[in-house]
Parts: sequence; structure tokens; C-alpha cells
Amino acid sequence: MSRNSLPIPDLTRPFDVLVIGGGNAGLCAAITARRGGARVLVLESAIKDFRGGNSRHTRDIRYMHKAATEYVTGPYKEQEFWDDLRQVTGGETNERLARLTIQTSEELGDWMPANGVRWQKPLRGTLHLARSNLFMLGGGKAMMNAYYETAYRLGVEIAYESEVRELKMRDGEFLSALAFYNGASCEVNAKAIVVASGGFEANIPWLKEYWGDAADNFIIRGTRHNDGRMLKELLRHGAKPVGDPRGCHAVALDARAPKFDGGIVTRLDSVPFGIVVNKDVKRFYDEGEDFWPKRYAIWGGLIARQPDQIAYSIIDAKALPLFMPSVFPPIEAGSIPQLAAALDLDATALLTAVNEFNRGVRPGLFDPGSLDNCRTEGITPPKSHWARPIDTPPYYSYPLRPGITFTYLGLTVDEQARVIMQDDRPAKNIFAAGEVMAGNILTKGYLAGFGLTIGSVFGRIAGREAARHAGA
Ligand SMILES: Cc1cc2nc3c(=O)[nH]c(=O)nc-3n(C[C@H](O)[C@H](O)[C@H](O)COP(=O)(O)OP(=O)(O)OC[C@H]3O[C@@H](n4cnc5c(N)ncnc54)[C@H](O)[C@@H]3O)c2cc1C
Repeated sequence: MSRNSLPIPDLTRPFDVLVIGGGNAGLCAAITARRGGARVLVLESAIKDFRGGNSRHTRDIRYMHKAATEYVTGPYKEQEFWDDLRQVTGGETNERLARLTIQTSEELGDWMPANGVRWQKPLRGTLHLARSNLFMLGGGKAMMNAYYETAYRLGVEIAYESEVRELKMRDGEFLSALAFYNGASCEVNAKAIVVASGGFEANIPWLKEYWGDAADNFIIRGTRHNDGRMLKELLRHGAKPVGDPRGCHAVALDARAPKFDGGIVTRLDSVPFGIVVNKDVKRFYDEGEDFWPKRYAIWGGLIARQPDQIAYSIIDAKALPLFMPSVFPPIEAGSIPQLAAALDLDATALLTAVNEFNRGVRPGLFDPGSLDNCRTEGITPPKSHWARPIDTPPYYSYPLRPGITFTYLGLTVDEQARVIMQDDRPAKNIFAAGEVMAGNILTKGYLAGFGLTIGSVFGRIAGREAARHAGA
């Protein structure tokens, strides 16, 4: 469908289901509600070219499956999925919702292609995901384009550049939404809403309430539109919050990345193959604690706790081919003191840190594909795997900043994706899906590809239940 032929919805007519936010969760909800017979409107803040929120930056989705297929290399069953989730969250998860997500994720392998998504064979990389995750051909952008195409074909109405600013509610019931559309405020009526407006990661003042001035140095990997306005609005109306306000998915990002929307190409996966020091040239965490997909999402938080929220990944020539590079070239030097000078770090301190690390390295058989026995002894913090001396010039560094992917503070929901109010009763006609409720399941840590799983599973549930509520 060409840009010019996109239908312009008439927002003054009543809808059965209003979906707020046009990312993965919103489109899964809209498509499902429409298939359930509802008249559906999606309101999306961004312009059409930037539709798809954070979802357009994704590459892969984790899902439960019993056997290998053309696109995954082996089974990934419920127990293993559950064990992985329990490990990263330290067991702090809503088990009913988590198990529902895991079990229902099995359907996604068929549901997504039925709605236009195409798979590709996994690329070689450092994330070890070929067995557990499906990769979308063309990534999240192609996935979102396919969903929009399907939604239009089914008759879902979609308005871009339409930010919902306020919700009118009475006694836990949604009445109408005030949206800013076509340069004016307009009231939208619907029998039910699905809130799929992402987290509040792009709202720096809100992040500062929990992180202080450190949040000024955060880089937001995705859309600037996920400012948590709907989350705040629902909390104001008495929705029950869930999750640690500081909880988030935050990675080590190339410090040269743009403030918003840099996407996947600015993430750095070099950490397990070298050391990381802060601006005082101190190592501060075990760089080889576990497989990178199980650890990459804590590194943003670790860097956020360092002075000035800056750190430096230091590697040598033999590490360079082992990870997917950032879009920015590494800083290169022939010696460690020269590298320190290029980074504006104390040269003696960096040389001391590297020498101390090298002396701590025990002999072992290096294997990036397993939790190998290359580790350190006698240094703090230790490096538990993939520890090799940094001794082969040229030496390289990437400056790192906390890259916030999404926040975990959200809306409490039940198995029908209904938003739970402070009195523990479900709101009558308000459903939530995606980042805005991911904190029910993700409390800390992350499993690569699980953000889409939560959004897809709960988006479909929310769409189904909202359509049912609307009597469609
Ligand atoms: C760089 C990057 C890479 C990632 N890679 C992966 C991956 O490979 N696999 C994975 O599973 N997860 C990945 N994630 C996480 C994943 O993107 C999210 O978990 C998931 O896409 C969230 O979907 P969502 O629909 O909840 O939010 P989004 O896709 O962000 O959609 C929310 C939408 O709501 C709109 N909106 C916000 N407020 C309003 C309002 N008031 N009115 C109207 N519209 C509003 C926004 O414009 C946005 O389009 C990645 C995230 C980033 C940033």
C-alpha cells in the first residue's frame, strides 16, 4: 500500500477496541481483535516512517518448541525455558504469567508467518541463539511492515502522529481517550482499550527520579516516543504498579551512539573477550561470568553505577574477530599506554590493570562457544571464562555508556491481560501488553528475544479479550 493511499480514520466515530501504541504488542492485539470481529483503531505517536516503536529494532524471538525445524537447530522445551527465566530473574517472577507466556509462545512459530512474518536461518554471531530463537527475515522492521500490511488488509484503522495524552476513567472503567491528532485535541470513544505504549525509557526526567543525574548520561536505544505517558496516566487513575522502578534492560552501548533510536548497531558484544575498566581505570565486574546472551542486559546497569557512567572495553587483536562489531570503528593503538592516551585515561594505571589481569590468567582451552576453563585466579573481580592475556597488538577499545532498552516498572495484569487496580480487582475494559506490563515477568536480568515473546503472547491475549469485552 503506498503512503498516499493510506486511509485516514475518522476518530469521531466510536470504536470497539482502541489500541494505544503501534509496536509489536499493539499490532498483535489489533490484528487479533480485528480477527475477533471488533472495529479496531490504533493510535501511534510516531510518523509513519518511524512506526513500530522499539519493535522495529528487533531481530529475533524466543519461543518454546519441541523439535528442530528449518529455522531452529534443536528443541527448546518448557522446562529449559522456565529454568533459563528463573536463573536470570533469580526466581522473582509471576510464575503463572511466566508459564503462560512460555507455553503460549509455542503458537508463535505458526501465528507470526500466518500474519506475514518470514523467518531466516540464524546468522553466526556471539549470542548462541540458534536453537532457542527464531530470526525474522529483514529483522523487526520487516516484521512490523508485515503486521501493518496485515492489519490494513483486515480493516484495522490506524492513525499516525496521534499521541494519546489523557484517559478519561470512572471506577476502574475506561470511558474515552484524548489524543493529539492533526494538530488538535480529539476525544476517541471505544468500548475497550489495549495499552501497548512501551515503557518509560525515553523519559529522562522520570528516569532521573530513580537514577539521579546519572540518567543524563543514559543513551536510549529505541524510540523517543516511549515516554511512559500512558503508564503514568493509568497509575494516576489507580492502576497497581509492578516492578522495581530502577529495573530495566540496559546494555553496554557504544558511547558514540545517538541519544535516541540508534538501534541494534550500536550495541557492543566485545565485553566477554577482554576487560572493562571505568574512568578510574578499575575493573568492576566479571566480564566472563556467563554466556553473553544471559549477561549482556546487566552491563548497562553496571556502567550506570560507575563514575560519570562511562567505561571502556579493552581488547587485543586476537579478540577482534570474535564478536559482531559496533557501527563505529574501535579506537586502535600499538601499545597499551598509547591506547590510554587515545582514551584520555591514565597510562600507568591502564598498563597496571592490564598487567595485573594478564598475570591472573590461568592456562586453559579457549572456546567462545562454551563456558570454557580460561579463567583468572587471585584478582578481584575474577574473570570466570574466556580469560586470555591481552598481549597481542594492535590494542583496541570501545567507550561504553548505559544503553537503556526498556524499563520494567509497569502495570500489573492477570492472565487475561486485564489491568489490575489498587484494590486488586481488574479494570473493566483496560488491557495491557508488551513493555508496559513486562515487569510482571521480568524483574531483573533478561533472556535475549523474550521482549517480543511477552509482547506477542500478551498482545494476542489482550486483543482477544478486548474484542470479547466489546461484544464483537
Ligand atoms: C535496539 C533494540 C533491539 C532489540 N532487540 C530485540 C530482539 O531482537 N528481540 C526481542 O525480543 N526484543 C528486542 N528488543 C526489545 C523489544 O523491542 C521490546 O521488548 C518490544 O518490541 C516491545 O514491544 P512493545 O509493543 O511493547 O513496544 P514498542 O515496540 O516500543 O511500541 C510502543 C509504541 O507505542 C507508541 N506510543 C508510546 N506512547 C504513546 C502514546 N501516548 N500514544 C500513542 N502511541 C504511543 C510508541 O511510539 C511505540 O511505537 C530490542 C529493543 C531495542 C531498543
